[in-house]
Amino acid sequence: MAKKIFSELKQLISLRSLRARICIIILVAGVFSSVFMRYGILDNYEELAVENRIATVSNQLMIVGNHLLSNSYFTIKTDERNYSSSRAVINAELETISNLYEGRVMIINAALKVVKDTYGISEGKTIISEEVIRCFQGETMSHYDKEHGYIEMTTPIIDTVSGTVVGVMLTSISNDAIMATMEELNRKAVILGNLMLVGIVAFSVLLSSMLARPFDKVADAINEVKAGYSDETISVPNYVETEYIVDAFNQLLKRMKALDDSRQDFVANVSHELKTPMTSIKVLADSLLVQENAPAELYREFMEDIVSEIDRENQIITDLLALVKMDKKAQELNIASVNINDLTELILRRLRPIARKKDVELVFESMRTVVAEVDEVKLTLAMTNLVENAIKYNKEHGWVRVKLDADHQSFSVAVSDSGLGIPEDSLAHIYERFYRVDKSHSREIGGTGLGLAITKSAVLMHRGSITVTSEEGKGSRFVVKIPLTYIAGGGGQTA
Ligand code: ADP
Repeated sequence: MAKKIFSELKQLISLRSLRARICIIILVAGVFSSVFMRYGILDNYEELAVENRIATVSNQLMIVGNHLLSNSYFTIKTDERNYSSSRAVINAELETISNLYEGRVMIINAALKVVKDTYGISEGKTIISEEVIRCFQGETMSHYDKEHGYIEMTTPIIDTVSGTVVGVMLTSISNDAIMATMEELNRKAVILGNLMLVGIVAFSVLLSSMLARPFDKVADAINEVKAGYSDETISVPNYVETEYIVDAFNQLLKRMKALDDSRQDFVANVSHELKTPMTSIKVLADSLLVQENAPAELYREFMEDIVSEIDRENQIITDLLALVKMDKKAQELNIASVNINDLTELILRRLRPIARKKDVELVFESMRTVVAEVDEVKLTLAMTNLVENAIKYNKEHGWVRVKLDADHQSFSVAVSDSGLGIPEDSLAHIYERFYRVDKSHSREIGGTGLGLAITKSAVLMHRGSITVTSEEGKGSRFVVKIPLTYIAGGGGQTA
């Protein structure tokens, strides 16, 4: 358990785990959007608050401006300005604005002279600044200085009768209140952000483990099959991806089962085939033993039968060994340049005595001289089996024709006979191990049912092909096609 947790932790750290990746993606996306939202909202708030403040103060300044005009503020003397009751009201209004917004308001007349300063320090001074001059041309201006924490505004006082700018109000107000609200908002955003972070972490861990769970299910199901608890096909349909993995696994399982079945069939067949001659030998020997004073002729007769059964057993074992050798994929072919005409002649010479015994005519038709890169021993085995079958499964006075031909890529050996032929439904099975069309007949003529399996293996090892056409009662034709040059690599296929 500890080992499993440790290995999972290691995979999490190395980011090879899907769970860790999903977790990190959600975490990054969550944190990024929460930070983005926080700064976005705060920035937006500041902009809005400054705009609002400018609009409110502008409105109030415009009202004061109207009061200034209606009270002829610019046309009277300075001392009178301070003592007349209506002027006192205007001054109070200006003071209120400057107190309310923690700022300073200066009234500048057409001669660019400060006629009123709520701070009381610049009255009588002349102000020549670009903003003031532009304001006299009718331009209302505002500027937010974030660094120094104030908003500066210039508001023209326009005589509604003449339409001229008679004065300018130069106002600067503090942004302290906005900053205080921002700080409070920021504090709350930090608390909320931290809470969100905890939520996002919990959510990402939960979601990542939920999303990765189907893959655990796949692993569990495969482990169950591996441990032998189940050999059923598995199904995890949660994702298309898990379905792909599971489908591939099920196919592999099916293939392995088929291989296992064929292995078991093969072992059962081998045991059966090897047991048959043994049973015959035992029956023959037993019947000799129970007979006291059995005549010497009987002994001889039974002994001959026993020897023929031993020969048969031997033949089966030899064929099995040949087949096993072909089955070894790693088995290297002993490739050499071989004259196929000479090889065929040699094979036919060896088989001619058997053909003669059955009075079967054996003909070799060579269309051209063929030299090919082949494994001589294995090709001899394959061709011998084909010609031997053509003789074995032939009728009296029949014929066997072996035709050798080639094109620029491959050579072909066609073995035709005038024999029994193969029933159509058996054609698909003749290359199977121990398959015989007629068991008793094949056994009678010494067949083991392994010959064509060996032939097909040998041909496929040469990257060749074997085809058969046959008609019952008329004869068969086997055609083997093999490339003239051997292409190495990839390992040989077996039947
Ligand atoms: P066997 O050792 O029994 O000959 P093979 O694998 O060589 O086994 O052949 C399988 C079966 O195919 C044979 O039992 C036989 O019935 C059939 N067969 C093979 N070659 C021929 C042929 N030329 N003509 C008719 N039947 C054939």
